[in-house]
This record gives sequence, structure tokens and C-alpha cells, in this order.
Amino acid sequence: MVVTQEDIDAFQEDIVNPYFALAEFIRSFGASLDPMLWVKLVEEELKELYDEKRNTPEHLKEYADLLYVFTGLDLVSNERLGTLVPEEERANIVSLMGRTERMLQEYLQHYGEETVGKAFTRVHRSNMSKLGEDGKPIKREDGKVLKGPNYRAPDLDDLL
Ligand SMILES: [Mg+2]
Repeated sequence: MVVTQEDIDAFQEDIVNPYFALAEFIRSFGASLDPMLWVKLVEEELKELYDEKRNTPEHLKEYADLLYVFTGLDLVSNERLGTLVPEEERANIVSLMGRTERMLQEYLQHYGEETVGKAFTRVHRSNMSKLGEDGKPIKREDGKVLKGPNYRAPDLDDLL
């Protein structure tokens, strides 16, 4: 009997710790440690979340995306925000992070911890499935990560 990764995923719905997940993602993809890039990603995902209707799988997906990049920003900001970011940007970033955190908190209460944890974990697995057959990221010339042959989009339909 051949047990596929999909079977395992379906059977054991464990929930990953966001910080471990982002550390794994950043290491595996050689992702940027520049806080300003992560700020841009948080702004993009905030917009995507605003554009979706509450209580839809699409909204939950954007929530998980926002939690994903926010955790990434938090991770790379811990030591660097005070030293690497231009002083005039710092107040903006602190305010963006505050707004994002309130938004994340609001929908954490709305959807519940278990649903959010599952959605985040599925988005993380989907992101990790972008790796190529050799376990290495496939990148375009400008550094953008491309989806490998094993890529699977996250399916959140059953969570709502
Ligand atoms: Mg998104």
C-alpha cells in the first residue's frame, strides 16, 4: 500500500507554530531578511484581506496569508527594526504592525483558534510545496519564487 503525502495531511491535521513555519520558509527559499520587503508584503496582504467578504474561504485564505507575512515581518524585525530601517520609516512600520495586529486579533476571535491554525498550516504546506523536486526553490531571474511541479493550492473550503 502506498501512502501519499496527501493521505498523511488529511489524516493528521496538526497545527504548525507560525514562527517555526516562517523560519522554515525563509531558510528553505532563501527568502529576504529585509524588513522593508516584508512591510510591502504585509501591506499587499492587508489589501487582499479587505477585498474579500467575511466568512468565505477566500477571506480565511487572505487572513492566513496576512498572518504568514506578518509573522515573517515580526521575525526579521525583532533585532533589525531599530538599526536597519531608516528612522523616518520606523514610526510608519510600528503603526502598520499595530493595525495589522488588531486586525489579526479581531478575526482570530471571529474564526476561532482551531480554524485559524488549520488555515495557516494549510497555507504553509502549500507554500512549501512550491519547492522543486530537488527540495530547492525555483526562482525567476529577478528572484521571484515560482511554483514547482509539486505545488498544491490550499483548500480551506471545509473549514467554514
Ligand atoms: Mg493573499
